[in-house]
Amino acid sequence: MNDTISAEFEVLDDRFRGCEGDSTIGRLYTGCRWAEGPVYVPAGRYLVWSDIPNDRMLRWDETTGAVGVFRQPAGYANGGTLDVQGRLVSCEHGNRRVSRTEHDGSVTTIVDCFDGKRLNSPNDVVVRSDGSIWFTDPSYGIDSDYEGHKAESEIGACNVYRVDGVTGACDVVGDDFVRPNGLAFSRDESSLYIADTRAAHIRIFTVTPEGTLTNGRVFAECSEGVFDGIRLDTEGRVWAAAGPAVHCFHPDGTRIGRLGLPEPVSNLAFGGPKRNRLFITASTSLYSLLTTVNGAAPIR
Ligand code: MG
Repeated sequence: MNDTISAEFEVLDDRFRGCEGDSTIGRLYTGCRWAEGPVYVPAGRYLVWSDIPNDRMLRWDETTGAVGVFRQPAGYANGGTLDVQGRLVSCEHGNRRVSRTEHDGSVTTIVDCFDGKRLNSPNDVVVRSDGSIWFTDPSYGIDSDYEGHKAESEIGACNVYRVDGVTGACDVVGDDFVRPNGLAFSRDESSLYIADTRAAHIRIFTVTPEGTLTNGRVFAECSEGVFDGIRLDTEGRVWAAAGPAVHCFHPDGTRIGRLGLPEPVSNLAFGGPKRNRLFITASTSLYSLLTTVNGAAPIR
């Protein structure tokens, strides 16, 4: 299917002018319960995303527009990304782990516990060029059976973790979050943005050479809905999902633009051969439009 809706761009600051795109948005698929975790795979020209309550991952083929089931059951997968080798890395609520889909199709566990205790339900993940894997671990997948399996938290906190790309060691890099969620590196990877859904803000941290986070401060507060997934473009603007919209923030933290959608938005990803195609997962549907900006490369 490919019906369209009008693209409701709002310019909130003159600096957003020139950052818009198509006047219409394509609805590439509808029929999810809660769509999340869009990952564009440039080598295959497809997009994989999650339909968490239906415990499946779907795949949209850029060359034909066809949508099919990529994996089901899918461990109640949520957010995902590609690693340095182009392999799919997925957060799985149901298996309470971060997994990797190998080139041969097998799925291996990257991490499922910390200090001998099971993770809560990894939510979103990014990979740095040194191979380290950074992910958030709120409790949404264990709060009820809707998005995973209801259970008590063993760790008793909702942390942000880093898995070393060489040793595989997992460390806490953030322990003062309420519900950490989407995250994204600045283009030079010297900073990491992390959304805290319950705290209704995005913070920015400096990444140290040792792989820890320091100098955390609030980058943006939420004026509508709650923050979920975030991505950056090549100019350092932060595009964030919150409420029924994608919000664009200038690198100085000012909200400069808004793209309204007909349903609550969970996450987004820039894709296409030029990374100028914005994919948006929003409740029941997957949407897409061409923009006049380009997502930060590489697509991780
Ligand atoms: Mg999320």
